[in-house]
Amino acid sequence: MKRRRVITLSVIGFILLGAILMSPGRPFSDVPYSTVVTDCEGELLGAKTAADGQWRFPPSENVPERFEKALLQFEDKHFYHHPGVNPVSMVRALVGNIRAGKVTSGGSTITMQVIRLSRGRERTVKQKIIESVQAVLLEIRYSKKKILSLYASHAPFGGNVVGLEAASWRYFGRPSDELSWAEAATLAVLPNAPSEIHPGKNRDLLLQKRNSLLRELHEKGYFSDETLSLSLEEPLPDAPLPLPSYASHIVAKAPEGVVTRTGIRINLQKQIEQIVGRYSDDFATRGINDLAAIVIDNTTGETIAYCGNSSPGRIRQGMQVDIADSPRSTGSILKPFLFSAAMQEGIILPYTLIKDVPVNMDGFSPQNFDQQFYGAVPASEALSRSLNVPAVHLLRAYGVPKFHSLLKDCGLSTLRKDPSWYGLSLILGGGEGKLTEITRAYSGMVRSYIIDEKFPLSDKVSLWYTFEALKDVNRPDELDWRYIPSLRKAAWKTGTSYGFRDAWAVGMTPEYTVGVWAGNAGGQGVPGLTGASVSGPVMFAILNALPLGEWFREPSEGIFAEICPLSGHLRSPDCPEGKEIRLPSAAMESEPCPYHNGGSFALPPAMEWFYKKYHPEYEVPKASPRRMEFIYPESGSELTIPRQMDGSEGKIVFELAHRDPSATVWWHLDEEYVGETRFVHNLSLTPSPGRHTLVAVDASGHTAAVSFVVKTGGRF
Ligand SMILES: [Zn+2]
Repeated sequence: MKRRRVITLSVIGFILLGAILMSPGRPFSDVPYSTVVTDCEGELLGAKTAADGQWRFPPSENVPERFEKALLQFEDKHFYHHPGVNPVSMVRALVGNIRAGKVTSGGSTITMQVIRLSRGRERTVKQKIIESVQAVLLEIRYSKKKILSLYASHAPFGGNVVGLEAASWRYFGRPSDELSWAEAATLAVLPNAPSEIHPGKNRDLLLQKRNSLLRELHEKGYFSDETLSLSLEEPLPDAPLPLPSYASHIVAKAPEGVVTRTGIRINLQKQIEQIVGRYSDDFATRGINDLAAIVIDNTTGETIAYCGNSSPGRIRQGMQVDIADSPRSTGSILKPFLFSAAMQEGIILPYTLIKDVPVNMDGFSPQNFDQQFYGAVPASEALSRSLNVPAVHLLRAYGVPKFHSLLKDCGLSTLRKDPSWYGLSLILGGGEGKLTEITRAYSGMVRSYIIDEKFPLSDKVSLWYTFEALKDVNRPDELDWRYIPSLRKAAWKTGTSYGFRDAWAVGMTPEYTVGVWAGNAGGQGVPGLTGASVSGPVMFAILNALPLGEWFREPSEGIFAEICPLSGHLRSPDCPEGKEIRLPSAAMESEPCPYHNGGSFALPPAMEWFYKKYHPEYEVPKASPRRMEFIYPESGSELTIPRQMDGSEGKIVFELAHRDPSATVWWHLDEEYVGETRFVHNLSLTPSPGRHTLVAVDASGHTAAVSFVVKTGGRF
């Protein structure tokens, strides 16, 4: 009795010890997986091989029904009824093996195969015993469903294709839950001997095995006679297919070894890649080699299409650069943020006249695109025509540090230098931005407007006037209309950087924001590379591909107040007329019309000098205390003597506006007479370095004075 008990306990102890020693651990815990990226509904956008070079998708819990039925029919009919090992088939296999004199076949359950796949050992009798024990232990730990999914995710399918999902894409070009019965049967048969039977070799044997499995499945009543005959006709797969490759720049940056679901909509993505590919082929012939486009859904804030550079089918040097995520000179693309912010704070009203006269910007004089000055331009027109000089005047009024910090708050991460480093050039492309962040910032304005998303620009009336100003087609002469079949109604802005290096276009509708950048990743400029002529048509082509929606609804916020129709300022008691419009609440703190005095409208002489050329209705006031004013430079400017091509010093052209065209003006530099002018009051001088005062006097004794500093060394 006692002896028997000892033996029993020893056996139990031995089994337990063996069980502990042979415990399978967590199967596949150190296996690397492919990087997989899907669209918003789980559709495959693209993938990368795992670290070991295998196409092995991260495990999925779901095993599609057809594959499961085919697999179990072929490999393990009693899977749901055995405890990990199937004694009947093991004995059968053992007898078969003894007769053959070597290990030839099977008898392995799916569970045992999971163990073998995870251990990767030789197929010997000893290993088989270990596998059997571990299989039983695995069954204790995991559900049948989990074991089946472990098998499906790790079974070999020939070559470097591992797991059902990778096999499904590589052999049939679709996900495993869309496989036909014939396809599922093919994949059920393959892992049994992936190196011997492969879609590439022994096709007859593979076909024979597939078809006999199909007949068995049909006999079980899984599908009709008709499906059987059609299935038997289906061809075997040929050479492995390439995996889908959309939004390749997102795939390239996706976290390794896992499935990442993005907000991309695959059908839109395909369309956008086609559009971008078409344009980029054309642009390439003009020396414009890189093109990027982004679409954001304003309702959700998701990026729904992302084309980091041209189309993935094109192989060219630099194509890999995700140009949408690279910092580039912003050109004029940031102007709407300044316009909206200045209105939100009551610095301007929608139609306030902004100065458009020569301005000195740290020794540099910015020009409008057409090299003209207009004297004074309503703010919204200055925005829709993208005038540079009024933008500089407006930024000076708003403040560079404040605008710099506003842009950062709007999500621009690349303005890392101190505001003083950028100075007023910040509004003309002196800073850099990424297409991703700029498009998102534009979308931020829309989201703030349509769904009250928190954003630094939140005043709805200001945003409304911004959208309205940007709706007016700007600079239509620059657009190549041949490219644009029809224009979708959109608020849009273009930008061109100095030297024609960067061409931007961003368009907004209530539903979508579309951002486009064109240029060369290496930074080479191309004559004619402008936002309006190059990126604008691409942006509209993309907008046209999106569903048509409504325009922005007029806001109900703000106040109604009278403005002066001539100056755009709040109406003053001197303004003869008023026009009531909706204004931001901050408007009441803004300056009333400064140009109407005693009923007559008079701009300061410098503004007037340019303004009257474009406004024949403007009457130069007869009696006005200010007869003349310096146009250039402004008082307090820092000037640099330009250097000529031959290295000698050039001259600075001083300009003056006089209300009486025929007046003679005598000029004095530091109280020394330097010349006289009549009709056109321009005088070229080369003052020495240091501080100077220039005074002009006319015959009636009126004077104008300007102080400035001349610095040494200069540019051409
Ligand atoms: Zn007025």
